[in-house]
Amino acid sequence: MPTLSPRIQNIVTGADDGWGVQEKAREMELAGRNDIIMLTMGDHDFPTAKPIREACAAALATGRTGYGSIHGIVPLRKQIAKRAVPVHGIEIDAEHIVVSMGGQAALFAAGMACLDPGDEAIVIEPYYATYEQTIRAAGGVPVTIMTSADRGFQPDTETLRAAITPRTRMILCNSPNNPSGAVYTRETLEGIAALCIEHDLWLISDEVYHSQVYEAAHLSPASLPGMRERTFIVDSMSKSHAMTGWRSGWIICPNMDAANCIIDLFLTSAYGLAPFIQLAMRAALAGGKGPEHEIAQKYRFRRDRAVEALARSKRLKIHPPEAAMYVLMDLRHFVTDAERFAYALLEETGVAVMPGESFGASAAGHIRISLTAPEEKLVEACNRIAAFADTWSEA
Ligand code: PLP
Repeated sequence: MPTLSPRIQNIVTGADDGWGVQEKAREMELAGRNDIIMLTMGDHDFPTAKPIREACAAALATGRTGYGSIHGIVPLRKQIAKRAVPVHGIEIDAEHIVVSMGGQAALFAAGMACLDPGDEAIVIEPYYATYEQTIRAAGGVPVTIMTSADRGFQPDTETLRAAITPRTRMILCNSPNNPSGAVYTRETLEGIAALCIEHDLWLISDEVYHSQVYEAAHLSPASLPGMRERTFIVDSMSKSHAMTGWRSGWIICPNMDAANCIIDLFLTSAYGLAPFIQLAMRAALAGGKGPEHEIAQKYRFRRDRAVEALARSKRLKIHPPEAAMYVLMDLRHFVTDAERFAYALLEETGVAVMPGESFGASAAGHIRISLTAPEEKLVEACNRIAAFADTWSEA
C-alpha cells in the first residue's frame, strides 16, 4: 500500500489538542445533561448582522454563483485597503491584499510564504491553538517562547533574542492576544521589530481582534519604522463582524511579489472565495464601523459582567482582559493541574472552559472562559465557576 506523507501526518501531534473538555461536554449533552454551558470556542452565540446576510442573499438571487476572484474582487480589496489605514496605521495598496478563507488560511499562506522545510518560526505564548500546527503544515518548526502572567503576557525581547538561531525565518505575533486578552505595548512591539530587522526576519502579525480593544489602543507592528516591508498582516471578519462560518479573511502582503506567490498558493487550494461571500464582505465593510463597534461593545459589557460575577469568589484573582472575547483566569495559587480542574468543573457544574495548557505552557494553571454566551447565561456560568473554585480541593 502507498503510505501517507509524513508532511501531512505530523501536522497535529499529541493526544489531546485541547478540545477534550468541549468534546466531553458535547457527549454529556447528548447523554441528556441539560445544564451544560459551553464557554470553550471563540464562536459567537449570535448570528451575523441581517444586512450582511441580506447582501449575501441578494448576490445569490442575482446568480453570483460562479468562481470568485482568487486575488479577491476589486471592490472588496478597495474597502479593506480603506479600512486598513485607521486600523493598521499604514497606507495599503489594494493589490497587496489577498482575500483568504478566514484568518486561518491567511496564517497558513504566510507560513508557506516565509518558511522552507526545517526553518524555525518563533511563536509567542500563549498562542491561538492552531499556530504550531500551521507552522508544521507549512514545513516549518515551531519554537515557542514563554511569557508570564506576572508581566501581563508581554513578550520579553531578551527571551525572544535567545530563541533566534541561524534557522529562524519568522516571528508570529498576535496582539490583541487570544487567549490572554493582552495588547502588546509599543515598547514590546518595538523590541520585536528591532529583532526582526537585526536578524532579517519576517513578522506575521495576526490582528484579528483589533476591533475588540477596551483598555489600550491597537498598534500594528507593520506601522513601525522598517517593518512594513517585512510584515504580513493577518485579518478576518470572523471576530469583528461575527462571521466565523463565512471564512472571510485576508492577508496584507508586504509587496506585490509576496501577494503574487500567495495568489498562486490559493490557485492550488481554495481557488478564491465564493463571489456571494466576497460581496457580502464588501457590503459589511462599506457599512462603516458601526457593526464591529456594536460587537466590541457587547463583549466589553460581557467582560465586565463576567469579571464582576467571578470576583464574588474568595479565591479567584481576576485580571480583566484589555481586549478580545475571553477571560484567561490564573488559578496557580490553588490549582496545580488546570486541565483536571476544567474536567471537574464540567462534571460538577456543567460549565465547559478551555484549560490554559491548550495555549502553551505559559498559560498552564489558567482556564480560558469564552464570553460567547448571552449575558444571563454567562453570569450564571461565572457564578458556578466562582462557587466551584471556592470549594475546590486537590485531595
Ligand atoms: N487568529 C486568532 C488569534 C484566532 O483566535 C482565530 C480564531 O479563533 C484565528 C486567527 C482564525 O480566524 P478565522 O476564524 O478567521 O480563520
